[in-house]
Amino acid sequence: MLSLLLTAWVAGQGQALEMSFPAEPGLTGITVRWSGHQVPFIPSGDSWLAFVGVDLDSKPGDHAVDVTYMYSDGHTRVVREPVQVRAEQYPTTELQVEERYGNPNPEDQARAEREAAETSAIYDTFTPERYWTEAFEVPVRGAKDGRNFGHRRVFNGQPRAPHSGADLRASTGTPIYAANRGRVVLAKNLFFSGNAVYIDHGYGLFTTYLHLSQIDVKVGDMVERGQQLGLAGATGRVTGPHLHWGVRLVDARVDPFSLVKLGAP
Ligand SMILES: [Zn+2]
Repeated sequence: MLSLLLTAWVAGQGQALEMSFPAEPGLTGITVRWSGHQVPFIPSGDSWLAFVGVDLDSKPGDHAVDVTYMYSDGHTRVVREPVQVRAEQYPTTELQVEERYGNPNPEDQARAEREAAETSAIYDTFTPERYWTEAFEVPVRGAKDGRNFGHRRVFNGQPRAPHSGADLRASTGTPIYAANRGRVVLAKNLFFSGNAVYIDHGYGLFTTYLHLSQIDVKVGDMVERGQQLGLAGATGRVTGPHLHWGVRLVDARVDPFSLVKLGAP
C-alpha cells in the first residue's frame, strides 16, 4: 500500500520559521515569496536556509508560499509549499500608564501617527544583503527570557495594538547590546517607544530596542553583534524601567526568543 505523507512547514502565530531544503547539483539559489518580498535562502553546509516570520495576527490554518529554485543552466522551477499557522493563545493585560500616554492629546496623537508612518516605511525596505553570520543573542546580558509577547493590551481602559515584542527585566542604566550585526536605521526619541534604536540586519530582518535612557549610536552606524547601543530606561509609554525588544522578520511581528532559538544559519 502506498501511503503519501504530506508535510507542511508549521509555525505558531508570532513565531520565526526556518525553512530548509537540501543542496542539489547545479542549484545556484532558492528564494521564497513571503509578504510581497522575494527572500533569498542562505547556503549553509548541505542545505539552503531561509528565516521568515509568521505575524502575530496571521490567520491560523493552511497557507501556501511559492519557492523558486534557480539552476546554473539558467532554468528555474517554482514549487508551492504548504505552511500551517498554528493558533497561539495570548492573554489580555490591562495596564495603567500616565494619562498622557493612555489618552494622548491631539498633538501627541498626530506625532505618534507620523512616527508610525516613519517606522512602517523602515519595515517596508528590504535590504538584499545579509549583514549577520552568527546566531542572534539576547540584548541584556544574562537574560534568559522575556515577558508579554503577543499580549492583547488595554491601556487605561482603551484597547490598543497587541504587544509586539518581549519585555526584558533591566533597571535604568543597564547596558543594552546589539542582538546581531547590522545597520542602525533609527536612533531617536519616539512618543510611545521613548528613546529607540532600530537595526536593519538585512534580508527583511530588523530588531528594535525601546524605552532607553541613553542612546550610544546614530543612524548609518554599522554595529557588531554585542556592541553597546545604549542604556535601559523608562522613556515613552511604560509602567517602569525595562527593555522592550522587538523583531520584524519579513513584515511579521515575531517573538524575539523564537529567532534566538533558530541559532546560526
Ligand atoms: Zn514592551
